[in-house]
Formats: sequence, structure tokens, C-alpha cells
Amino acid sequence: MQYRIDSRSGNKLSILGLGCMRFPRLLGAIDMKKTEELVMRSVEGGVNYFDTAWLYPGSEDALGGILDKYRVREKVYIATKLPVVMLRGRADFDKYFDQELARLRTGYIDYYLMHMLTDTELWNKLKSWGIEEWIAEKKKSGRIRQIGFSYHGSRDEFLKLLEDYDWEFCQIQYNYSDENFQAGVTGLRAAARNMPVMIMEPLLGGKLAGGLPPGAERIFREANPALSPAAWGLNWVWNQSEVTLLLSGMGELSQLEENLKLADRAGPGMLGEAEAKVYRQVLELLNRSYRIRCTGCNYCMPCPRGVNIPGCFAAYNTSYAIGYVAGMQQFITSTALTSERSSSPSLCVKCGKCETHCPQHLEIIRSLDEVRRRMEPFWIQGIGAAARAFLGKKRR
Ligand code: SF4
Ligand code: SF4
Repeated sequence: MQYRIDSRSGNKLSILGLGCMRFPRLLGAIDMKKTEELVMRSVEGGVNYFDTAWLYPGSEDALGGILDKYRVREKVYIATKLPVVMLRGRADFDKYFDQELARLRTGYIDYYLMHMLTDTELWNKLKSWGIEEWIAEKKKSGRIRQIGFSYHGSRDEFLKLLEDYDWEFCQIQYNYSDENFQAGVTGLRAAARNMPVMIMEPLLGGKLAGGLPPGAERIFREANPALSPAAWGLNWVWNQSEVTLLLSGMGELSQLEENLKLADRAGPGMLGEAEAKVYRQVLELLNRSYRIRCTGCNYCMPCPRGVNIPGCFAAYNTSYAIGYVAGMQQFITSTALTSERSSSPSLCVKCGKCETHCPQHLEIIRSLDEVRRRMEPFWIQGIGAAARAFLGKKRR
């Protein structure tokens, strides 16, 4: 494992951090046995940065329980986040923070983030509630060690936010699929002059690992058969000297082992013109096939009408990236179209709740309309309705 020095604290951080949003799950709940293996193998492999959040269901509690059980809390850095979208006023700062400490079985947070800042307007609202004084008090008492923010907005607003407060680190989305998306490369370089930058979504929610169009996988394989698409994605991020560490949401031990090996040798300057050409070719294919940039983060869920928003988008993208039949199979299963509890896009009543939570700022309602037009033609609706009627009769 390689480490980078956090210029603001002097902490020695592993270049690979464990993203705890996608801990393995079993029947909806976190699979504790698998998660324990993952966390402890990460620690053993030299990973010392663990990123969780109030908004990742069950994640803080699971992580805290494991670190406590194996007495390794002091060996690692915990990053967690204030759930900005849930705040209604100053009293909520302590309400969530105290519960986070309890869930994580700790008396302090090493890296504390304002979760999902999108612009200065939102930050100004927090300031009007006294967030700066609250942070100062928590830092003085040692309960927050480093203060930062995770970001999902435009580049210009990001640059303004950097100027507006003495942040000690930040977390941005960054990967080869679009280096100008959100804060982008300009934001990365500006932030890195003054603070460590943690990268989230280095594989775009796994899309750049297992969800590439077949042609793209072939391009990577032919260029270097020893590297998986995921390895290509992570190496691209580590190749940038401004990146402090990247967060990978590894759900399987095999992914962790692969990434640990990469983190032994990856670094700035490892990729040359030959590799740049490979990324350009893959990008060309990606841009042709991915229509909706959904990362599958689930922040928009649950939909009050039961629409499986990320599932609809994934199937729609598959229908372009791999083929209509493959996309349709995925659509029918992920929306349970033939069951009584269907979660198809035609249930959407355009209430708009989901759009206020989407960190990618997707126009979910408009996109769901597109999905409905492509994936729910009249004959599919007919099949779904017939199957539901048949199942209903059988049950009676
Ligand atoms: S706009 Fe549609 S998909 Fe979004 S939350 Fe409302 S009903 Fe659900
Ligand atoms: S639509 Fe937005 S919030 Fe919902 S899963 Fe996709 S990226 Fe996440």
C-alpha cells in the first residue's frame, strides 16, 4: 500500500480508501459476515481511510461495530458526513452528529464532511444557522479533527465554495468518463493547491467496471490483458498527481484483493500516450452508449409511488450499450413488471421528490418518460397486465 501525506494534518493516508456506501447486502440488510471480512482484510492490507455517512443505511453502525470488535479504531481514519438534506435548523447539527458518534462507537471523527454541498446558496443557509461556530466548537473540543465537504454541483460554484471557508479537505466525483463533470479537473487542481482531495465514484458507481459496452471491454483487454476495466478506471485516477486518495466501494473480497495490488504500484506518471489513446477509444464508445448518467447511488429512493428509478435507468442504458433484448430482460426483472408490485416508470406522478435528492442533478422525470417510451411499448404493458391478472386469479 502506498500512502500520501495530508498536507493539512500530517496524516499518512492510504491511496485506496474503502467506500462504505455499498457494503454487501443480504435480503436488504447489510451482510455482516461479508462486511466484516471486507473491512478487516482492508485494514490488514494497509487501507486506513473508511468513508461512510448518515445517509448510507446501516453503514455507520456496521463500520463502528466492526472497528470496535477488533479494537482497530485507533489504527484508521473515519470519514463521515452531516446529512445536510435532512437539516431543519441549528439543533439538528448536534442531533445527527451525536448519533453518528454513537453509531461509530467513537468519541471523535477524523474527517467530517458537509454531505452533498451543491452550491454557495446551500452553504450560506448552513452559515445562517451557525454552522461555522458549531464547527469551531467541535474542532476545539477535538470531536472533529478535519473538516471538509463532498460536492455535487457546478464547477463555478465549487470554486466559490473553496474560497468561502478554510476547508481542510474535499471530496469530489472524478473518473475518466468525463473529466469536466461537476468540479472536474479544474476544481481538482484548484482544491489540491490547498488541501487533500478525496475522489468518489472513480468507477461511476461500478459502471466503468462491470457495465461497459462489450466493445470497450475488448479495447482494454487488447491493450493489456492483465488489467480489468476496473483497474484501468482506478489507474486513471491515481495517475493524477493532485489526487490524495480514491474511494472504492468494493463489495467482494476479490475486488479488494485486486485493488490492493494496484495500490502497491499505481501513481502519477504511470500512464503514457499509448494508454491515453486507449481511454479516448473507450470514451468514444461510452459516449455513444450511455444515455443517462445515473450512478445507482439510490439517493432518490424510495419513490412514494414505488418506481425503481436506478433500475429503470440501468436497464435503459443496457438497451443501448449491449442491446435492446438484454435491456428489456433487465427492465422486466428490475421493475418486477409482471408482478402485482410493479415498479415501472409509468407509475410516476411527477411529484419531483426524487429530483431534489439526485447528486448528479438528473432530470429524473424527463428521463423516466424516455425510459417509459422505449421500454414500455404497448405490447410490454399488455404482457405485464396479463401476467398480473393471471397471478391475481391464481392467488384467489
Ligand atoms: S417524480 Fe415520479 S419517480 Fe420521482 S419521486 Fe415522484 S413519483 Fe417517484
Ligand atoms: S437517479 Fe440520481 S439519485 Fe437516483 S440513483 Fe441515479 S444518480 Fe442516484
